[in-house]
Amino acid sequence: MHILVINSGSSTVKFQVIETTDATGDLLLQQKLARGLVDRIGARASYRFEGLGRSTQSGSLPVGDHEEAVRSIIHWLRSNQREQALDAVGHRVVHGGTEFTVPLLIDDGVVEKIDALSELAPLHNPAAVSGIRAARKILGEFVPMVAAFDTSFHHTIPEPAATYAIPYEISQKHKIRRYGFHGLAHQYDIARYADLNGIPVAQVRAVTLHLGNGCSATAIRDGQSVDTSMGFTPLEGLVMGTRSGDLDPALVSYLAQREGVGANEVENWLNHRSGLLGLSGLSNDMRELTAAYAENPRARLAIDVFCHRARKYLGAYLAVLGGAEAVIFSGGIGENSPLVREKICAGMEWCGLKLDAVANSTVIGRDGCISVVEAAIKAFVIHTDEEAIIARETARVIQSKNG
Ligand code: AMP
Repeated sequence: MHILVINSGSSTVKFQVIETTDATGDLLLQQKLARGLVDRIGARASYRFEGLGRSTQSGSLPVGDHEEAVRSIIHWLRSNQREQALDAVGHRVVHGGTEFTVPLLIDDGVVEKIDALSELAPLHNPAAVSGIRAARKILGEFVPMVAAFDTSFHHTIPEPAATYAIPYEISQKHKIRRYGFHGLAHQYDIARYADLNGIPVAQVRAVTLHLGNGCSATAIRDGQSVDTSMGFTPLEGLVMGTRSGDLDPALVSYLAQREGVGANEVENWLNHRSGLLGLSGLSNDMRELTAAYAENPRARLAIDVFCHRARKYLGAYLAVLGGAEAVIFSGGIGENSPLVREKICAGMEWCGLKLDAVANSTVIGRDGCISVVEAAIKAFVIHTDEEAIIARETARVIQSKNG
C-alpha cells in the first residue's frame, strides 16, 4: 500500500510517501519513497521535495494557503509518477478531544468534529483541517483518508492521573482533563523499542522522554500510556525550547498584575519567551546552549533546570509504574545530546539505571542502547518517526474497512 502522510502545521505542510508492504503496516516492513515540506506558507514560502533515489527539488515560491501547499506537493508527486499509486492518505491531527481515541476514516462529520475541537487546540487543529480539506478536494473521494491523533495514545491514562484537582463540575463543564500530546511520538518510541528488543509492545513498561523543541515524558505500562507530562495544553510539564512547563499557577495573575498585562499575555510569555530561551537569554536551541555551557552561567542554568525537571519526572514515573525496564530518549535533544542524557541519569544507580559513558557519547541521532550491560533499567535512544506510525495506523484502518 502506498500511503501519503500529511503533517500540517500552522505555516508548514510536511509529507512522506511510505510503502507498507504488509496489510498491518508493520514498521519493520515499511519503505520510504518520498518526503518533503512546504515551509513558511505565504508570499515567500520555501519548499523541498525529495524522491528517494531520485532528484531533489527545492526553492521558494508564493504559496497562499494550505490548499496551495498540498496542491504543489500532489503536483510534484504526479510529475514524478508517485501520486497515481497512492492508496490512502494519513493525516496527523494534534487534538482528538475525548471523542477520538483511535485513528479513524475521515468523512465530512469527522472533519467537522476536528474543526470543532479547534477550541481546545487553536494553534494546531485549524491547520490540520485545512490540510485535510485541501487533500480531499484535490485527490477526490476515491482516495480514503485517515486521521491519527496526537492525544489518542493517552486516552488510557486512568482517572486519578488525568484529573485536575479543581472543582469537579467546572472540569466537566469545560472538558478539562489531562489530554497529553506527542502521542504518536511516544507510541513510535515504544513500538520501535519493542521491535529492537524482540518483545511484544504489550509487555513494555518504560518511561519515554521525548525531548525536542517541545518536550514530554510518558509513563508506559503494558504498552499503554498511564501518565504523561503535557496536560490540558502542551504547556505543562517539562522545560521546553520556549515553554516554561510546570509552574505555580498563582504566577499568572501575579505577573499580570505586576506587569499590567492580561492573563493571555502572560500565557504568551510562558509559551514563547520562557523555557531554554527565557532562562538563557541566548537561544532555545540546545546545541547553542551546550556550546556555551562552560563559560555562560545562564546557558548552564538553562540546561541544569531542563535536566532537573526531566529527572524529576523520570523519578515520579518510576514511582507511578513501580519500576520500569527502560528509559527511552527521543526527539532532537534526546537523540543528540549525550550531555543532557548524562545529567538526567547521573546518580540513578540506586534504581538500577547507569549509562555506559562510551555508548552515551557515540549513540547520536540513531537507535541504540546507552546503558551498561548489567543495568536493571536499560537506557535507549530512539530516532522518532511519527510518519511511520501514521502510515501503520492508516494501513490498519484501511485494512479493517476492507474487512
Ligand atoms: P525536534 O523538535 O525534535 O526537531 O528537536 C529540535 C531540537 O533538538 C533543537 O531545538 C535542538 O535544541 C535539539 N538538537 C538538535 N541537534 C542537537 C545536538 N546535536 N545537540 C543538542 N541538541 C540538539
